[in-house]
Amino acid sequence: MTPSTTDPTTVLPQVRPALPAAGTDRLFLAGSHAGHAQHLAAYGPLDTGTVGPEFTTVVEASGLSGRGGAAFASWRKLAATAGSGNAGLLARRPVVIANGAEGEPLSLKDRTLLIHAPHLVLDGLLVAARAVQASQAYVYTTAENLASVQSAVTERRDARHVRLAEATDAFISGEASAAVNSISGGPALPLDKRRRLSDTGLKGRPTLVLNVETLAHLGLLARYGAGWFRSAGSVRDPGTRLVTVTGHGPEQVLEVAGDASLHGILGSAGISPEELSAVLIGGYHGRWVRPLDYHLSPSGPSHAVVRPGAGVIYTLHPEQCGLAATAQITEYLAVQSAGQCGPCMFGLPAMADVLNRLAYGERNPRLVRELERLAKMVSGRGACHHPDGTIQLVSSALETFSQDVKAHLAGRCTRTTGGAR
Ligand code: SF4
Repeated sequence: MTPSTTDPTTVLPQVRPALPAAGTDRLFLAGSHAGHAQHLAAYGPLDTGTVGPEFTTVVEASGLSGRGGAAFASWRKLAATAGSGNAGLLARRPVVIANGAEGEPLSLKDRTLLIHAPHLVLDGLLVAARAVQASQAYVYTTAENLASVQSAVTERRDARHVRLAEATDAFISGEASAAVNSISGGPALPLDKRRRLSDTGLKGRPTLVLNVETLAHLGLLARYGAGWFRSAGSVRDPGTRLVTVTGHGPEQVLEVAGDASLHGILGSAGISPEELSAVLIGGYHGRWVRPLDYHLSPSGPSHAVVRPGAGVIYTLHPEQCGLAATAQITEYLAVQSAGQCGPCMFGLPAMADVLNRLAYGERNPRLVRELERLAKMVSGRGACHHPDGTIQLVSSALETFSQDVKAHLAGRCTRTTGGAR
């Protein structure tokens, strides 16, 4: 029979494609700027109507952890939201939010996913919504990605109810409670961290906020199952993850196996570790490391493992000063404080000031102790993770660049530039 050109099923494969190979090319199999037809041809159809609460056990078996930075076990977030919801009571029907705000300035992975594989994100969003019996689903992202998502939504019937919400282009706007606040019509600022979104989120309803990459993996898990998901990565970090490699050399987004070695990732990016003096892993809330014999896994940090955070790998050229780069990042982070909590509002600019003095010539041995004092004062005292993430960055800089600190205090810094953007 000749297929009718008006029959939408003619673009579907007759049978589901074979499972994608067990390698690490998973999230961009449909190609660049994939429309719905290419998406279906690459991955096969997905009947989200058949997904129910039992999907949480598939996610648990997969070992998927969140790809937005905090790396929570995804199944726990699904279970907590479903457990707080009440499918029979509209006011308690959960809400699911695909978080594509990507406030981390060094990260490009979520944008790349939303531009090139928006249907995989939508698949995951619809699957998550079914699993927790949500009545509303949102994609929350910055203006530059909205057109791609909007066009994907209009291409398919099953996503017509998905709403889009614009995120402001700011570091803190991707924090989960800031996303909820923003979609509610308020400023994109974090809420009190004691409030559990899985219980009281958007409009007081149980709310599940998942990073867009996490959702893309859910879209594949719903098709191929936990065993397939685990065929890449390791026991402690199954599956694949996206990383943005940036800094020294061209900026690129790579899909790598969970628990990949830093050497292996740099090799795939065409960068020789010998060309680098240090690497910042995870982004502005991440950690500097040197030497580079680490693996990326949420089970870090330990002597051999570092947490991938937002998946950023920022490479520092030997000519760049790590202290100056950290001072510049800290200054940026201080400006990004939402100004709601005193220790964060005053402590981060003070830390940036001391770091700048250390990086740019003040030979005062008390500066390091002052940084440590400020870090203690700020630690754990914000309504969100922002101050603690900043302290982690600064502490790792003092440790990794301890020889540079000595050189600066002795007036002997030989590196010429700072700068992580
Ligand atoms: S800790 Fe800082 S960024 Fe977070 S809510 Fe408070 S002031 Fe805002």
